[in-house]
Amino acid sequence: MKKPELGTLCIHAGYTPGNGEPRQMPLIQSTTFKYDSSDAMGRLFDLEDSGYFYTRLQNPTNDMVAARLTALEGGVAGMLTSSGQAANLFACHNICQAGDHMISTAAIYGGTFNLFAASFAKMGIEVTFVDQNASDEELHAAFRPNTKLLFGETLTNPGVQVLDIRRMARIAHEHGVPLIVDNTFPTPINCRPFEFGADIVTHSTTKYLDGHGTTVGGAIIDSGNFDWDAHASKFPGLTSPDPTYHGLVFTKAFGKAAYITKATVVLMRDLGAIQAPQNAFYLGLGIQTLNVRMKFINNSALEVAKYLQSVPELKWIHYPGLENDSYHTLAAEYMPGGCSGVMALALEGGRDFANKFMDSLKLITIETHVDDCHSCILHPASHTHRQLNEKQLAEAGVDPDLMRLSIGLEDPKDIIADIEQALQAAREFLA
Ligand SMILES: *Cc1c(COP(=O)(O)O)cnc(C)c1O
Repeated sequence: MKKPELGTLCIHAGYTPGNGEPRQMPLIQSTTFKYDSSDAMGRLFDLEDSGYFYTRLQNPTNDMVAARLTALEGGVAGMLTSSGQAANLFACHNICQAGDHMISTAAIYGGTFNLFAASFAKMGIEVTFVDQNASDEELHAAFRPNTKLLFGETLTNPGVQVLDIRRMARIAHEHGVPLIVDNTFPTPINCRPFEFGADIVTHSTTKYLDGHGTTVGGAIIDSGNFDWDAHASKFPGLTSPDPTYHGLVFTKAFGKAAYITKATVVLMRDLGAIQAPQNAFYLGLGIQTLNVRMKFINNSALEVAKYLQSVPELKWIHYPGLENDSYHTLAAEYMPGGCSGVMALALEGGRDFANKFMDSLKLITIETHVDDCHSCILHPASHTHRQLNEKQLAEAGVDPDLMRLSIGLEDPKDIIADIEQALQAAREFLA
C-alpha cells in the first residue's frame, strides 16, 4: 500500500483494531496492569521487557495517541504530557540540568518565557534569549561550551512570526546540540519541522490538536535524527550509565528511542506529569478531524485577514498568509498549505477604541484560549503577558497594542459580520 496521506494518518495511525475489537481507539481507564509472575514484573521494572507498569509512566491510550501524533510529525517516538508547559519543561530538562545553559528565541509564548526565564533560573539552568532574526554571527556568539539545546516556536505565539527552521537547525548542529521546536500553532498539517532539520518537536495539544477546547495537554515527539553518542560528553544522561536503572545506558539500550524512553522512565517517573488517559482519549478524537479543520481554518483566516486590511482603523496586521507580510516568504517555504488561524493586529484610536471593539464582539469571545473551534480574541499585554514588564514585552515581540485574534470553525461570513458590527459600535462610542 502507498504511504498514507496526513488526513488518513489522522484517522488510522496509532491504532489498528483486530477481529472483533473496538473500531474507535479504546480508553484504558486503569492505573495499573497485572502480571503472571513476580519475575515478569521485575523484568519490566529493570526495563528488560517492554510493557505497562503504572499509568504515571505509560498508559496504552496515551501511547496510541502519541503514536498517531508521531506518525503525523514523521518522528520515531513520542509521549504525551499533562500540558504544553510540561512538554517544554520535559523536552529541555531531559538533556539540560543545573549548571547547563540553553538558548531560546525571545518571541515565544508568555508561559514558556516565564518557565525559561524564572523557573529554569531557579533550577540552575541559564537561558539566553536571542532574536530569531539576528544574524548567524550573533546567534553563534550566544553558544557556550555548556549549551545543550536551541529552542524556538515554528509560528510564534502571539506575534505569528515564522521561524527559519533550516537556518536554526544548521546553527544548532554546528554546535553539536539539537534544535527543539514548539509546533503548536502550525500543527503537523501545516508544518512538519523534522523535514527541515528540527530534532525534537513539542506541542500544547490543548490547542488545535484537541481543537474543541476540552482538555489541557502536551506532547513531545523525537525525530530520532540527533546523534547523542556523537556528542556524548554533552549529554551524559543519555550516553552514560543510569544508576537508578542498574547502570543502563539509554542510547545503547534504546537506540533512536533513547530520548523519549529516558523522558518517560526518568522524568515521568520522578516528576509525574502524565496526561490523564481520559484526556488522551479526547485528544485522539480531536486529531481524527485535524486535517479537515486545519484546511478550513487556513482558508477562513486568510479571508478574515484580507478583510481586516480594508478596515479604515487598522494600524497594522501580522498574518504570514498575507502576501505583503514580512514572514510570507518563510511561510511559503515552511507552511505552504496555510498559516493556521491566528493573527495579530492593532487598531488606531488607542486603548478605548480597542476595548470597546473587543467588548462589542458577540460571536468572537474574549478568552485565554487560541487555536480552537470557537473564534476568540485576547489582548496579551493586559491578559496572558501581564506579568512581563515593557522591556520583556518588547523582547517577546508583544506590542502593547497587539490583539491576538484566533479564527475558529464558524462560517467566515459570520466572523467578518461580527467584526464589522463591533467596529461600528466602537466608532459610535467614541464619536
Ligand atoms: C498554549 C501554549 C503552550 C502552553 O501549553 P499549555 O497546554 O497551556 O500548558 C506552549 N506553547 C505554545 C506555543 C502555546 O500556544
